[in-house]
Amino acid sequence: MAKNEKKKGIFRAYLDFNVLYKILIGLVIGAVVGVILASSGVTALPAWISMFGTIFTRLLKMIIIPIIVGSLIVGAASISPANIGKVGIRVVIIYLITSACGVIIGLLMGVIFKPNAGLAAAEALAADAAGKVADVSVWKTIYEIVPTSVLSSLVNETVLQVIFFALIFGICLSFLKISEDKRLSDIANTTFKIFDCLSEVMMIIVRGVMQYAPIGVAVLIAEVFAKNGAKVAGALVIVTVACFLGYLIHIVVVYGGLLKIYKLPFKAFFKEARTPFMTASVTRSSNGTLPTTMQAAENLGVEKEVYAFSLPLGATINMDGTAIYQGVCATFLMWSAMGRGLTIGEMALITVLATLASIGTAGVPGAGAIMLAMVMQGIGYPIAEGTNLAGAYAMILGIDAILDMGRTALNVGGDLGCTCAVAKKMGLIKADSVLK
Ligand code: ASP
Repeated sequence: MAKNEKKKGIFRAYLDFNVLYKILIGLVIGAVVGVILASSGVTALPAWISMFGTIFTRLLKMIIIPIIVGSLIVGAASISPANIGKVGIRVVIIYLITSACGVIIGLLMGVIFKPNAGLAAAEALAADAAGKVADVSVWKTIYEIVPTSVLSSLVNETVLQVIFFALIFGICLSFLKISEDKRLSDIANTTFKIFDCLSEVMMIIVRGVMQYAPIGVAVLIAEVFAKNGAKVAGALVIVTVACFLGYLIHIVVVYGGLLKIYKLPFKAFFKEARTPFMTASVTRSSNGTLPTTMQAAENLGVEKEVYAFSLPLGATINMDGTAIYQGVCATFLMWSAMGRGLTIGEMALITVLATLASIGTAGVPGAGAIMLAMVMQGIGYPIAEGTNLAGAYAMILGIDAILDMGRTALNVGGDLGCTCAVAKKMGLIKADSVLK
């Protein structure tokens, strides 16, 4: 009996302990174990331990589609038809501008650091790239946003298509809700309540998943460090430094500027942004971080009608960190494979392509690396098997997990920053909000 009570006590204490600190502790433990493993030549964890990390990523994957469906439909249907155009257009424009700034910062970092791996190293790794290159094109990325079957988009978890349909559905629902025909407004309100319920239930599930996060995170991080610890050397260190410096500059200049323009308090914003930043860097998934980002927006006092719409959308279409990464890595690939930097024309094209690519990048781990292949193809350098370019690309893939940690944090920070800016501009923040 006494033993049982003690057990209950430990469990309660675990639940009550701040999730942020729990995840941080998991991260540190995982990193230390990973480095120790790497230095003793062990590059992979035993399958039964690795399973705990896999369970975490599967849990995150499990909740993504229902969260997007629930919150986007509720979000879009909650905005009054009079506001939806204004909020929607503002959100999308601000997302595009910040992503374009990201590419430009990334390209600047590339010009300054000239990351050059050297042809020999690239050649040696050429074989690794075989089979990793996806068939991607800009136009295909755009038209594939429109689903041919909503059910298959849901089943195949094609996030952008699900978002597209959920938005249309939510917007139409918002019109139906205020219909003068009572029958129509009744059924619309009932439908709205069902999706609202779905969205609320998902939030409870999310809180449960977050309690498991520290364990999953420790294992995932240990794997990343064990696998990459020794490989991160030479030119790849330069790529990593250039990316992270770019991320930092973006936070200071772009987010700092955004907060200043919209008169949002830095301290209060970054205090709340900490948890999503950290969750994003360990899960490496904007979609997986979505619940935490939403909680932060709620804590900041943003009205739900804005963030329930802008954050799920941003988790998929707004990728500032990914945009910076594209700029740095495209420069690295050019130096490695062609022995030269990018021309001004190529840079201009990359700015457009990488902004589009960041829209088409799913908010899941590693998606940006696939889009990098698309960007290279777009400027006329397809990553063909056995070439220097493919070798250099394989090197980037080798450190992708580390780069992805930073870029995902920034992707998520951008969603939150833009959401606060639009909410402030539209006066859609709560009376007691710290953003006032
Ligand atoms: N992992 C990133 C995200 O979820 C996407 C990427 O790979 O760039 O935001």
